[in-house]
Amino acid sequence: NLSDRLTGVFDRLRGRGSLNEQDVREAMREVRIALLEADVALPVARDFINRVTEKAVGQQVLKSVTPGQQVVKIVNDELVAMLGGDAEGAGEAEPLHLDARPPVVIMMVGLQGSGKTTSTAKIARLLKDKQGKKPMMASLDVNRPAAQEQLKVLGEQAGVATLPIVPGQQPVDIARRALESAKLQAVDVLLLDTAGRLHVDEALMAEMKAVASVSAPTEVLLVVDSLTGQDAVNVAQSFSDEVPLTGVVLTRMDGDARGGAALSMRAVTGKPIKFAGTGEKLDAIEPFHPRRVADRILGMGDVVSLVEKAASVVDKEEADKLAERMMKGQFDMNDLRTQLGQMQKMGGLGMLAGMMPGMKKAKQAMAASGMDDKVLVHMDAIIGSMTRKERANPALMNAKRKKRVAAGSGTSVQEVNKLLKMHQEMGRAMKQIRKMGGLKGLGALFG
Ligand code: GDP
Ligand code: MG
Repeated sequence: NLSDRLTGVFDRLRGRGSLNEQDVREAMREVRIALLEADVALPVARDFINRVTEKAVGQQVLKSVTPGQQVVKIVNDELVAMLGGDAEGAGEAEPLHLDARPPVVIMMVGLQGSGKTTSTAKIARLLKDKQGKKPMMASLDVNRPAAQEQLKVLGEQAGVATLPIVPGQQPVDIARRALESAKLQAVDVLLLDTAGRLHVDEALMAEMKAVASVSAPTEVLLVVDSLTGQDAVNVAQSFSDEVPLTGVVLTRMDGDARGGAALSMRAVTGKPIKFAGTGEKLDAIEPFHPRRVADRILGMGDVVSLVEKAASVVDKEEADKLAERMMKGQFDMNDLRTQLGQMQKMGGLGMLAGMMPGMKKAKQAMAASGMDDKVLVHMDAIIGSMTRKERANPALMNAKRKKRVAAGSGTSVQEVNKLLKMHQEMGRAMKQIRKMGGLKGLGALFG
């Protein structure tokens, strides 16, 4: 995956003052593969890489990070920005804009099976329950026999009114009737669920245009299945050319989609992704989170915030010394104690392991030895009760010494044993990480 590949690039990039073109190009090769693996459409990936390359070349490398890490931060920030967030903030999705004269119309468009009908009901439910609106839904799908019935059933589940079905009526006429009905009933928001096709075709586009022109929608949301791969661009382009889109809904984000469609959608339509569908149930919808999806696309864990955090809390000299001792296999109890202190400063084990790519092994080793955040404090006490000689050479710890240390630290022999075992496991894990070529990266993260 990308984190492994970039770790390799990091190592090669280490120790330079500013990002030169070759460094960046090398890193970009890996990023490009990751984007394609995440199903970002080819032309979109190419544009993205060009933009990032332009931004990155020549940038001064911050003191506290390696060039490779800095490239990742630039990639990440650009990705978040392109997905509609800002680099600093939480970057929540843009909300629906409903400040127009009621009934405000939301028109849902997209291919068949993309999740239009489901999303229509989900959004109507949100508007009713979370925003105190009075919504109404109407199905304009006269292609599929049971389509209108499907929306009616969902409406009943969501507690949202649907326009009564008149068999044989055509989409534009249904839209007109829906508007009339919404006005009469003082509906705030009218959601129009339209028909789809398996592929984009002219008849479909003509129908969408006609419906848009009679209903004057305030929002036109393109519903796209996030599992749509390279084809996402064509779908987005066709709809975008024909109807005035205002936003995108990405469905099936609960599946194993890697988020690439999101980037493609944004790039082609230029419109914000407003919602992510996360399941079949009516409450399975949430505002789109650019940051989370950027993480998903890069698969890097939150390297960026780890770098920021590490730089701000960890003492550099201590970390360098530690890294050196690890390399030499001299990792003793004093080092372990230092390490534990730093882990506490960085927000505990789960956080550390979760953020750092390649730390799975170390985390597993810790879990195997029964280590969690609560015991960090006990461990510190145990090491505090050991003599200098014992700390430097944990092999000295026989039954008698263990008993003494347990008593001195207010713990048990069992806990002392656990700590000793963990020290061994960590030593082994460090060796593993070194073998994988990751220690340099690790040392850098602590620097
Ligand atoms: P339409 O043809 O565009 O109206 O699509 P539908 O709304 O009928 O949805 C097609 C299928 O996809 C249905 O079985 C839905 O339950 C399912 N579906 C829709 N959105 C999601 C989602 O976000 N996650 C999952 N897992 N399934 C979804
Ligand atoms: Mg439908």
